[in-house]
Amino acid sequence: MARGGDSCDDSGVQLLVTGIGDAFSAVHFGSSGLVEAPEGLIAIDCPGPVLAMYRSAAEVSGVPVDIDQIDDILLTHLHGDHSNGLETFGFFRRYISEKSGRPRLHALPEVLARVWEKLAPAMDGATKGTGGTSTLEDYFEPCPMTPGRGFDVAGLDVSCRRTRHSVPTAGLLIRGGDGCLAWSGDSEFEQAHIDWLSVADCIVHECGDHFKHTRWTELDMLPAGLKAKIRLIHLPDGAEVPSGPMRPLKQGEVISI
Ligand SMILES: [Zn+2]
Repeated sequence: MARGGDSCDDSGVQLLVTGIGDAFSAVHFGSSGLVEAPEGLIAIDCPGPVLAMYRSAAEVSGVPVDIDQIDDILLTHLHGDHSNGLETFGFFRRYISEKSGRPRLHALPEVLARVWEKLAPAMDGATKGTGGTSTLEDYFEPCPMTPGRGFDVAGLDVSCRRTRHSVPTAGLLIRGGDGCLAWSGDSEFEQAHIDWLSVADCIVHECGDHFKHTRWTELDMLPAGLKAKIRLIHLPDGAEVPSGPMRPLKQGEVISI
């Protein structure tokens, strides 16, 4: 990723880690990232407060982040620590930003079918200038993600897989150049999901100690070669993991894959 206006000549996938926290974090932003793509930045999940989160990641990393560069959001699921920033994001792009066009919201069909239930009480008021009632499509372009079928997002190849969580949730594979990033999404430990993610060069895997999340001890049972590719996210505040190859990510960290 280009820092401080430098030109970027990296091939592969570049990830800026914007949040590492879990749903109860009083310290960190929700687990999320930005991926540099040929046609802009791709957001992985959208926790609140999203604008402060991007400012903080830019300050720590030295990578400038402009929300107008983000025309694609990959939404893994609807838990608030992954989706509470959608209201701010949608309002900002519709009423504050001078950039035209709606950001694309990529999610499983069953997630897209319910996202407006979450947003409508805050966003379905009269549409500026028309007096009508707003819909999801006034703010975002809904883009259903079909598991097993790759799709282009801002010039990168993305695929998704449903995994086991308390609500419909997807994991992601993002390919660019000769690099591949895997993002587990929130998930209880699922060997088939690990197998699917394992084609990647770097696997960002959630790790928590609550119901419907993956425990460190479960990941530690994996082969050494696989553990060497895993980076941990979504850890509870203050969690200490044993030293080893599965290093926790930090907010503002840039990963080149
Ligand atoms: Zn969740």
